[in-house]
Amino acid sequence: MTADTITAADIRINARWLIPIEPRGVVLDHQAVIITGSRITAVVSQEQADADYRTRETVDLPSHVVMPGLINVHGHAAMSLFRGMADDLPLMTWLNEHIWPAEGAFVCEQFIADGTQLAMAEMLRTGTTTFSDMYFFPEIAAQTAFDAGMRAQIAFPLLDFPTAWGNGPDEYLSKGEAFINAWRENEFIFPAVGPHAPYTVSDAPMKKAIDLSNRTATPIQIHLHETAFEVAEATEKLGQRPVARMNDLGLLGPNTQCVHMTQMDDADIETIASTGAHIVHCPESNLKLASGLCPVQKLIDAGINVAIGTDGAASNNDLDLFGELQTAAMLAKVVAGDAAALSAHDALAMATLNSAKALGREQELGSLKAGKLADIIAVDLSDPFIQPVYDPASHLVYSNHGRAVSHSWIHGVPQVQDGRLTRIDVADLMLRVDDWRERIRNQQNS
Ligand SMILES: [Zn+2]
Repeated sequence: MTADTITAADIRINARWLIPIEPRGVVLDHQAVIITGSRITAVVSQEQADADYRTRETVDLPSHVVMPGLINVHGHAAMSLFRGMADDLPLMTWLNEHIWPAEGAFVCEQFIADGTQLAMAEMLRTGTTTFSDMYFFPEIAAQTAFDAGMRAQIAFPLLDFPTAWGNGPDEYLSKGEAFINAWRENEFIFPAVGPHAPYTVSDAPMKKAIDLSNRTATPIQIHLHETAFEVAEATEKLGQRPVARMNDLGLLGPNTQCVHMTQMDDADIETIASTGAHIVHCPESNLKLASGLCPVQKLIDAGINVAIGTDGAASNNDLDLFGELQTAAMLAKVVAGDAAALSAHDALAMATLNSAKALGREQELGSLKAGKLADIIAVDLSDPFIQPVYDPASHLVYSNHGRAVSHSWIHGVPQVQDGRLTRIDVADLMLRVDDWRERIRNQQNS
């Protein structure tokens, strides 16, 4: 090896274990990830890295597993400020009597900025590097994520009724189109169209939303078949299950992310599979709101891409995607009646490459591979609660909780170092969160 075959790069991460996700089901020992600028240049053995690369920074992670950053494909980030405010209620009571009134009273630009920052602090600390959001004032959520260097799909909301962000569907759509145009070329923020649900968006605005998504080649995300009540009510009122109605309207396709899907008959599964739409599984929200069970293994067997999300912190009540994976893996087994359903490696793929695919970003995100963006996390397996280590993949899904995440990089920039956030001032954030708690509690008590 001569000096001129040595390549200069920025960062070298030495990993005790590495789970690249591509190829699937592999755990590699003593690997090095080489980063240049915002991208992964190489994933090689540490001996090969010694011979071939010189980097300005080396990060040694001798008891860690390194993998792609997690991608949370469904949530309402700013709702973190409502965490624990109203629990133990079914979906419609929870929405009608608690969430929608509180949103009416408090949602404003500052609420979105502070709530989104709180959500990002939690997501970064627990291994998420890209999240999807569907909430009011999307331009504020987008700017807040961008300022923190976090990657996010931000879906602007569409509903039949007025909210703090707009007076009705036409205003949401015109503001939404301006929002898409403002961010569509951005590397961190991916704008999307977010019709809330079949029962809150009627046919005419839904068609306009689909048209906007098609015209701008922008993903569309919708809550769909979340509860048995939703499906029964739609069938009674409109004579059609929501999946069939959405298909007739032209909503379902490879750019569509269907969130929840707990109520699925064989025809629904066939429709989703034939259109290439993605499903975003949110197991903990479905369990907490008693919404129902998504038949994950059956969907995967039907060839459907299944991604994962936490939903908002008000119905979960955390945004720890590793915890969500544990729930997803265990639930998939009991729903399928098969302990082999959704293996640890399948679960890890669900939160990385499958989720990247749902966002239409699998060429750039979701695995550790030369040429992809350097969105990378490390999980420290040295703590007693995850010892001994026979199989790191098993620990990540069945024994880990997200707080063992020690490092993360997004776009090659450190976001978490030794468990500390580098770009969010947590002490200052906690003061603002406490102020919101006081205001919300005072209003509840009045
Ligand atoms: Zn949701």
